[in-house]
Amino acid sequence: MKDYLTADEWCIIEDQFLPEYHKISESIFSIGNGKMGQRANFEENYTGESLTGNYIAGLYYPDKTRVGWWKNGYPEYFAKVLNSPNWIGLNITVGSYTLDLHKVEISKFQRVLNMKDGYLKRCFEAKFPNGKIISVNTVRFYSMDEDDIGALEYSITPLNFSGIITVESYLDGDVKNEDANYDEKFWEKKSQHQTDNLSFLTQTTKKTNFSLCTGTATTFKVNNKQIVDNICFQQFDQFLSHSISLHIEQGNCLSTTKYASNISSLNHPENELQEVCHKKLEQAQSKGFKKLLEEQAASWSNIWASSDIIIDGDLKAQQAIRFNIFQLKQTYTGRDSRLNIGPKGFTGEKYGGSTYWDTEAYCLPFFLGTSDQSIARNLLKYRYNHLQKAIDNAQKLGFTDGAALYPMVTMTGDECHNEWEITFEEIHRNGAIAFAIYNYTRYTNDHSYLEKYGLEVLIAIARFWKQRVNWSIIKNKYVILGVTGPNEYENNVNNNWYTNKIASWCLAYTKESLLNLKQKNNHQYTELLTKTNLNEDTELADWEFISKNMYFPEDNGMGLILQQDDYLEKEQLLVKDLPVSERPIHQHWSWDRILRSCFIKQADVLQGLYFFEEEFELESIRRNFDFYEARTVHESSLSPCIHSILAARLGQREKAYALYLRTARLDLDDYNNDTEDGLHITSMAGTWMSIVEGFAGTRVKDDSLHFNPFLPTEWSGFSFNLNFRNQILKIEINQHQMEIENTSDQVISIHVKGKKIEIKEKSVHQIEL
Ligand code: BGC
Repeated sequence: MKDYLTADEWCIIEDQFLPEYHKISESIFSIGNGKMGQRANFEENYTGESLTGNYIAGLYYPDKTRVGWWKNGYPEYFAKVLNSPNWIGLNITVGSYTLDLHKVEISKFQRVLNMKDGYLKRCFEAKFPNGKIISVNTVRFYSMDEDDIGALEYSITPLNFSGIITVESYLDGDVKNEDANYDEKFWEKKSQHQTDNLSFLTQTTKKTNFSLCTGTATTFKVNNKQIVDNICFQQFDQFLSHSISLHIEQGNCLSTTKYASNISSLNHPENELQEVCHKKLEQAQSKGFKKLLEEQAASWSNIWASSDIIIDGDLKAQQAIRFNIFQLKQTYTGRDSRLNIGPKGFTGEKYGGSTYWDTEAYCLPFFLGTSDQSIARNLLKYRYNHLQKAIDNAQKLGFTDGAALYPMVTMTGDECHNEWEITFEEIHRNGAIAFAIYNYTRYTNDHSYLEKYGLEVLIAIARFWKQRVNWSIIKNKYVILGVTGPNEYENNVNNNWYTNKIASWCLAYTKESLLNLKQKNNHQYTELLTKTNLNEDTELADWEFISKNMYFPEDNGMGLILQQDDYLEKEQLLVKDLPVSERPIHQHWSWDRILRSCFIKQADVLQGLYFFEEEFELESIRRNFDFYEARTVHESSLSPCIHSILAARLGQREKAYALYLRTARLDLDDYNNDTEDGLHITSMAGTWMSIVEGFAGTRVKDDSLHFNPFLPTEWSGFSFNLNFRNQILKIEINQHQMEIENTSDQVISIHVKGKKIEIKEKSVHQIEL
């Protein structure tokens, strides 16, 4: 665990430059706008350890799969989000020295991520070996409004000398992915072009043929007065720069303003990329840096108005929750249903920028609660758009008749994961995709998605489960053999309870939803039958029979759900007895030892109890929670939040809070020693869930919002906004009361601790706790 960042309500602050933590900070201080994003690399040259990262959503390269032993059914490639041209680069020369923070003496360093207004700021003083000192200030951001635009301002002031300072502002397309399987570069140059202040580089990806034009517009100023003369521009292969060399008097300021635009063939015709890019840069220039920054603050102010969580009495917790919300909102805006949320967002290369079940199981509730419902609908639409590929994927594995297996990891619908335990076995992902349709419908009461799109997805998933189960003569039930559950520390197990449970639920829910549609709109129902070639009599009956006759491993003596067949035969050890020196176990134990142990990577049975809480007695949840929590090592970032929510439900408040802390500051304090690879974006949604569903106890039941709040003793209060069915509620909880403001112009009825309360339009209601 690291503790080098200063606590602040709205900012992440690094007050001194710690080169050993630089890669961690590059992840933490990342900026983005849903369409593109980048790690917090320095603009100037830096020869210390760094991971350069600029990413554009939706652009990927199919990197040929590399495995030791090929198995039939493996995907041909792993789609990787591409490291794209680096537009922030500035080479600064003072006399004969190049500014390189690895080589100069640094003082007054400060790096700030301003989450309120949405920008990254840095300042420092650098002393060169010849004693000359400069002061540097930089600000940069990706515009949320003009989402093709990034902008930066960089100023240099000589503090103890007057002399020549050279700034070369460049655009560099010769970039590569650190995680390339064959150490190959993914871009090929198409054209490059330059004018006296503009650079354009158009490149195409190998194999996928995405074209991208990156353009920059650079201006130089001295004491805010633009310099137009003596600007040199030059270009080499995939490298274009504008530079200026000026004699700067001591105390004067030489500044560079740079706008960048990334325009891709994903959104524009190939032959217009440079023209569009040019236009965008002109628009940005005519608005100017200051105006763009003001608009940025206004956009973020709107985002915070619907999604902020305020925590009183705990600055670090406040900072952490805002950090989680900020990173999620700058990763996904929901404007484009072709895009999704990679576990690392735009902050690193690990996980290839692809989509996992994380989106449906974790991110969806966050976007449902904090955004317009069209945003969550777009997340669902992404999977609908990939339905045919999911059917093809299942076919490749031997399934037939329109059965779909959604990929575990994907960019465009094709499976990308190439470990058999996950590719072929971690089939519970299909369940999360179905559950998300239910969750969306339950939360929004918008049945149109289910009826128009969702049912097709559900039918294909139900067909998969039907073919994936088999009848066991011994158990006299349906079983699902050879799977990996959410707990990836076990493979090829039989009857993973969570998988069986979600499969059984999917079959029942699909049937029920079809019958509802039949009743409501027979015409639409008949059209759906024709489109999906569904046999109303046999298929629906089969699904019902399988669902009702699914086998669920249990130990009646102990009153426990079993994670899988024979789980109790493992040596039963507890996490509390594991030596700290052996944690995390995946970094210290052999894989064989992990597989044989009883230790659980992440919520598995408990993930099921979380999804289907209403079906279980509180006592049963308690028994299973106490048993499994004691065996869970939480070595997936997705884990502690689910445990925290259940602990809160069970009234285990201290445990709920301790688990919450683990999710909230996971990246800021680098708990898992891996923040340098990128942030854990998808699990950040779990942090939000821990507060809203955990501490506030928010649930949707019987068409109404329910709250069962408590206040962690470390806090004096907390408040958040919730968008429920287009009504914004402001909720405030402190030691004594819960206050709910209904900001909408319609009455709403909710439940607090089981008691029904009606809150009139535009009014506030207080409830004693
Ligand atoms: C977890 C998966 C998750 C993936 C991406 C893995 O460590 O076990 O459940 O989907 O990370 O976040």
